[in-house]
Order: sequence, then C-alpha cells, then structure tokens
Amino acid sequence: MILTQGPQFNGKASKRLHVMAKPIGAACNIDCTYCYYLSKQDLLEYKKGCSPRMDDETLETYIRQYIEGQNTPEIIFSWQGGEPTMLGLEYFEKIVLLQKKYQPSGIKISNDLQTNGTLLNDEWCEFLATNSFLVGLSIDGPELLHNTYRTNKAGRGTFNQVMQAVELLHKHSVKFATLTCVNNLTSQNPLEVYRFLRDVVKSPQMQFIPIVEQKTFRTDAPQIVGEGQTGQTNEQLRQGDKRLIPGHKDSVVESWCVSDEAWGNFLIAVFDEWARHDIGKVFVQYFEASIETWMGRQNPLCTLGEVCGKGLAMEPTGDVFACDHYVYPEFKIGNINQRSLDDMAFDKKQQEFGFAKSRSLTSQCQKCEYRFACHGECPKNRFIRTRDGELGLNYLCAGWKKFFSHADRSIAYILRAMKHPVKHGKYSDSELQAAREKAIAERASLAQNTSTAPAYPTKF
Ligand code: SF4
Ligand code: SF4
Repeated sequence: MILTQGPQFNGKASKRLHVMAKPIGAACNIDCTYCYYLSKQDLLEYKKGCSPRMDDETLETYIRQYIEGQNTPEIIFSWQGGEPTMLGLEYFEKIVLLQKKYQPSGIKISNDLQTNGTLLNDEWCEFLATNSFLVGLSIDGPELLHNTYRTNKAGRGTFNQVMQAVELLHKHSVKFATLTCVNNLTSQNPLEVYRFLRDVVKSPQMQFIPIVEQKTFRTDAPQIVGEGQTGQTNEQLRQGDKRLIPGHKDSVVESWCVSDEAWGNFLIAVFDEWARHDIGKVFVQYFEASIETWMGRQNPLCTLGEVCGKGLAMEPTGDVFACDHYVYPEFKIGNINQRSLDDMAFDKKQQEFGFAKSRSLTSQCQKCEYRFACHGECPKNRFIRTRDGELGLNYLCAGWKKFFSHADRSIAYILRAMKHPVKHGKYSDSELQAAREKAIAERASLAQNTSTAPAYPTKF
C-alpha cells in the first residue's frame, strides 16, 4: 500500500503502493518450526478441502488495480506465501502476461519472489532470470543450523535442497538475496552464519530477521498500545524479567526465539566482520539501512522507520490486511473485489495503523539517543514494559541499543571516509564541531588567564 506522495511523475503527484501478495496463502510444502504464517490456515478459516489459491479473476483484478493505483517509474510486485512456487510455473507465466497487458508505456514492472527454494529447477530459474525476478531465498546458515528448524513435513532438514537452489540461481544468473532467521541457535553462531553466507552461498544481499514470537502468536494479534487493539491478552513483563528469556520455564516467548541480548551480540559480531573485510563487497541490509539513518535519511526498512503501514498483505481471496505481521481478522481492511487497493491504502484505519508506530512510543524511546535509527522498532515486538513499568517497549530494545551504540563510532568513520555528512550519533558533525568549539574556548580562556596573570615577570 502506499503512502509515498513524493515528487511529480508524468505531470502528476507520484504515488507508490506496496502489497505483499500471497496467492497461495499460508500453504507450504515444508514445515519450518517458526513460520508465523502456517497457522493462518486455521485463523483465516480457509474452507476445508479448498486449495487457498487466488483465482484467475481475482489475480487479474489485483494486477490491474496495483498498476492503476501507482504513478511511479517502476512498479514492484512482491509474491510470497506460504510457498508461492507451489502454484507452478504456469501461474507465474500468467502473472507476467497480465502485467504486460496492463503495463503503461514507459513504466518498468519488476517482481520479487520469496521462496524456500526447494521446488526450484532449471526451468523455474530460466523463467526467473528471463523475467528479471529478484528471488529472496530462505536459508539459515550451515547445515546443522539450517536443518534444526527448516524441516520438511516428515521432519527432515531441507538444507541439501536449498543448496541445490543456490547452485541453480548462480548457474542461471538469477538475482537473489538471502533471508536468514536469527533464532536461539543462529544467534549464538554469528560468524559461522555470516561467513557461510558470504563464502559458500556467495549471497549478493543478506537480510537477517530476528525471530520473535509470543506464545500466543498463533491466535492473537500483537497489540498496538494506545490504539485500542485488544488481541493480546498476556501480561506485559518489565525489561530484564527472566520470563522474557526464550527457553525459560515460564517464558512468554517461544523457545526458538532470539533473546534481546543475543540479537545485539549477533549484529555486533557480524557488523565487526563486515566492517573489517567486506564494506562495498557484501550487502547487509540492516547495516546499509543504518548507515543511511546516520546520514540523516529515512530508514528504508519499515521496521526501523518512523511510521509504517506502507506494506499491505493480501490473501488469495483478495482480502487485504494492514501488514504481513498483522494478518488477523481485526486488521482486515477490505477485499479487492469490493474496494480498490488505492482506496484501501488511504483508508483512515490504515493511516492510523501506520502513525500509531510513532504515536505509541514509550518515553524511554522518545528520549533514546538512537531513536533516529530505531524508532522503537516494529510494533509487533512491543510487548514488554520499560523498567519503570510503561507499556509498549520493544522486546529487542536492549539488543538494538547495544548494537547502535557499538556501531556508532564505526559508522561515523565509514561515512567520513566516504565524504558523507554524519548527522546523528555521538560522533556526528555537530557533536564534533561543538567539541572543537569547546576546546578552542577552553584554550582561549587559558591563554587569557595566562596573559593577565603571568607566572613569571616578562620585563625587568
Ligand atoms: S507492523 Fe512492523 S512489519 Fe508491519 S509495517 Fe509496521 S514496522 Fe513494518
Ligand atoms: S533502542 Fe530501545 S529505547 Fe531506543 S528507540 Fe529502540 S526500542 Fe526505543
């Protein structure tokens, strides 16, 4: 969905939508332990025995509306699931034909496809390369780490199949990025994971996702503090409470989650390795995005941006939801067969959803020196209290703060080396200038004191 009312394009205000389309819903050929989407099959009450597959009419309506709702030089479609490749190659050939049918002249149409890779073959990869799809491949690191949670329906690891997909993607020169879940195990092995992705997978772009799910996530929507949502029923614990540690006997989060501390440590270890050896050679999404915020730009990632609500999610029925992480009945905005996407993107409820991200910040976040880079992170993870007892702090807060404060000096150094301004942080241009002015003032004052009260006679 939208919200970018940027400069002009084609003589009109430019307009951009983003929808994560799930034409196969939550259906998947494998069974990853921490998939937050598999449970949607029950939650959204897909009719028993019906395949959750977007029908041709809804698909065409979607593609037409998505194109008509935008005024921008490039329109980007994102396809996700479940596992979208289960729809078969013909389904995606149809998608490309429909896009061509509605493509306005002079406008580029691009596609992203998120996949577990297990169904990719030569034919698929030829298609993806020919049509310039950007593939997001889920892979959690070396074999043991990947196979712990990314298993097939028989409980066996999928590592070998995913590595075959890596080979095929390289062989056909398909553009791809890796998506790696940082869970209770991968978080303990940051360098093994990073070096494997860099040296073995040769990942052109790395995305790391912190795995955080409350035990209620299969049935309850995350609460947005102050916006009247009531999906979450469990008590909010204070930062530092042992019951927030994954694996604790009374933990409120799933055992496979990453802890706040482990998240910070993971980022720090990977950042140091990247900063030492790989800047300019390896693209790590969080680091590149953070560097932009130190320069004073908006964070391109919704989770670390000031407001959100810019990425709708759509189910096979055409039902549209506030966000991929809020596909719960109470966050449904409408259906594309009854309302236009354009209309839903500007829906008042959706706007409020997006602005609630900044309006519901705790005072700890409002005063935080790294607010510019974090903005309280994703509302989905704001289910703890501050140590003072205020509701709605982010579960990952301690980890984010540890990482930002660790990376602060290096990011300033990197930016200066690239001759970019440093707008934020303890080593920003203004902080350095203030320190310089203070030092000059102190020297001047010392000199004045010295000249008015010389320590020894200068004339005899
Ligand atoms: S709720 Fe989280 S994931 Fe969804 S749009 Fe907002 S920040 Fe992004
Ligand atoms: S680091 Fe913590 S206190 Fe600072 S903005 Fe992020 S969540 Fe809020």
